[in-house]
Amino acid sequence: MSVPGGVKPSFLRDRGNDVINPKLDDDEFELAINQAQQQFDLHHPDIVVGSSRGGALAMNLELGGVPRVLLCPAWKKWGRIKTVPSNALVLHSRADEIIPFEDSEELIRRSGLSNDNLIEVGRDHRLADSDSLATMWWACQLLQSGEVLPQGDEPSGHVAGAHEEANYICDSCGEEIIVPLDMSEGALQRYVEDCPVCCNPNVIHVRVDDDGIVTLWSEPEQDHE
Ligand SMILES: [Zn+2]
Repeated sequence: MSVPGGVKPSFLRDRGNDVINPKLDDDEFELAINQAQQQFDLHHPDIVVGSSRGGALAMNLELGGVPRVLLCPAWKKWGRIKTVPSNALVLHSRADEIIPFEDSEELIRRSGLSNDNLIEVGRDHRLADSDSLATMWWACQLLQSGEVLPQGDEPSGHVAGAHEEANYICDSCGEEIIVPLDMSEGALQRYVEDCPVCCNPNVIHVRVDDDGIVTLWSEPEQDHE
């Protein structure tokens, strides 16, 4: 129910993406689905992002294998589809006051997916803070790379031991920081750590692909208390 041109589409557009951001019907869910499906069929986007009611709506589209990024999807309130495929990533705040975080946990469980598909981020329902927006963009990039997330909780043996540390450049002081990697934490990791040089907090993102190749990057945590 957000307006076209809101903070999330603008964030993606500012990063060089073509964003199709149609105005969808606020009242009739089925009509909104048809409107969105028409736009999808017309533009063939690489990825579909939906937030809240829009997340539920995205779940109900026929995407032919195109991945979805779902922000606190309101699947219990709207739509017939109550599962997501393995190439969907769900972002949700545990402090969400509109759609409970547990709804996304249930969605992941019903879909037979692992917790790698559910990313806890943000401080409220809007997910409009800088960390949430950056994580949305990260999820889009990850899924656009064609990665299918591992199923279940089995550790993927080919990854273990591939790398034991990696480095990032602190945005605040420009120093190269070496961090140990814990592969048992999964193929997608995200955590906050204070730069050991300048003490500014950085959000560290780690991604391990199927070949065991580690990608790690950081951004300053801007909304810390
Ligand atoms: Zn630093």
